Amino acid sequence: MLNKGRSEADLFSFLETKKEEDLDYRFILSSMCTLPHPVAVRAHSMFIETNLGDPGLFPGTASLEQLLIERLGSLFHLSTAGGYSTSGGTESNIQALRLAKEHKKKIKSPNIVVPESAHFSFKKACDILCLEMRTVPLDKTLKMDAHKAAEIIDKNTVCLVGIAGTTEYGAVDPIPELAKIASEQDLFFHVDAAFGGMVIPFLDRPLPFDFALPGVTSIAVDPHKMGLSVIPSGCLLVRDPQMLSLLNIDTPYLSVKQEYTLSGTRPGAPAVSALAVLDYLGNEGMRAVVSGCMKNTWRLIDGMETFGVERAITPVLNVATFICNKAPDRWKVSWTRRDHLRIICMPHVHREQIEEFLVDIGGMYV
Ligand code: PLP
Repeated sequence: MLNKGRSEADLFSFLETKKEEDLDYRFILSSMCTLPHPVAVRAHSMFIETNLGDPGLFPGTASLEQLLIERLGSLFHLSTAGGYSTSGGTESNIQALRLAKEHKKKIKSPNIVVPESAHFSFKKACDILCLEMRTVPLDKTLKMDAHKAAEIIDKNTVCLVGIAGTTEYGAVDPIPELAKIASEQDLFFHVDAAFGGMVIPFLDRPLPFDFALPGVTSIAVDPHKMGLSVIPSGCLLVRDPQMLSLLNIDTPYLSVKQEYTLSGTRPGAPAVSALAVLDYLGNEGMRAVVSGCMKNTWRLIDGMETFGVERAITPVLNVATFICNKAPDRWKVSWTRRDHLRIICMPHVHREQIEEFLVDIGGMYV
């Protein structure tokens, strides 16, 4: 702690220097986050002081959070879905598993069944909740094998998890088959659509992954990924709003008597930012964003293949992966656990960057 405060000019010049150490989004091809939309930034600063952890003090903000849930519920074919604004996919996944565990409270040694491709947040969740995590192998297209999932489920399984847009490959698991298995076995089925939830509904041919499938119990979706909101902005949606009360704990000194959320103090600003982007862009605007990202993904794949660098899988979302082991230094790319080059064509990755990247990569491969 400084003994005497520093001047604002000095302070901000120090902060500026530190900010300059961060990478410029222009060169970031590895992230599922992106530059927030200007309306998200404006809404964020407008609601900066709001706390959804004490909603009686901020009823306007709380109603905007519920409007966000309503918008997402409608997008996912169930306008009556319940839910709340989380800090992102990790929290949504933890909370979904808490719900699943509570739902089958009598099971003494609970396990969950997830694909091998599940995000590492499930490991954290299992650790915290003392759940056994059973992983299901993937098929050749890197999707969960539904038959193997059915074999692995047993009487102690409290949750089946499917991924709609895997972190590494953007693969979409066979959600309809999994939903059917879950329905038949009366199992809680959580769909992790943290990435895909803001992409799939806006594709020309959307894949089934949401509440339109009767077996889907809950969905995680992150507006701070393809929803162009500010970080941190996630949402957990549940088919039955009453189910959330399974997590209720007493909150004696707040404006509400009980809460089911994980965090106590919760920022209203990211929830409002997420809503602002959805309402500003609407369905048409979001379709345009997603269409641009998909076009760039395909341009990248075509360009790479002209240099003999083959795709690892044919993507359904804006995640391009390649069988190759080197990439130009000035670009921030990532590598999957199977050693494939991974590039996410997020909204901040424009056509010019793809062309520049291809020129650089051409210099390495030709
Ligand atoms: N689920 C999926 C499919 C993801 O891709 C991610 C992050 O990339 C997460 C969950 C975790 O989200 P967060 O980092 O917002 O907690």
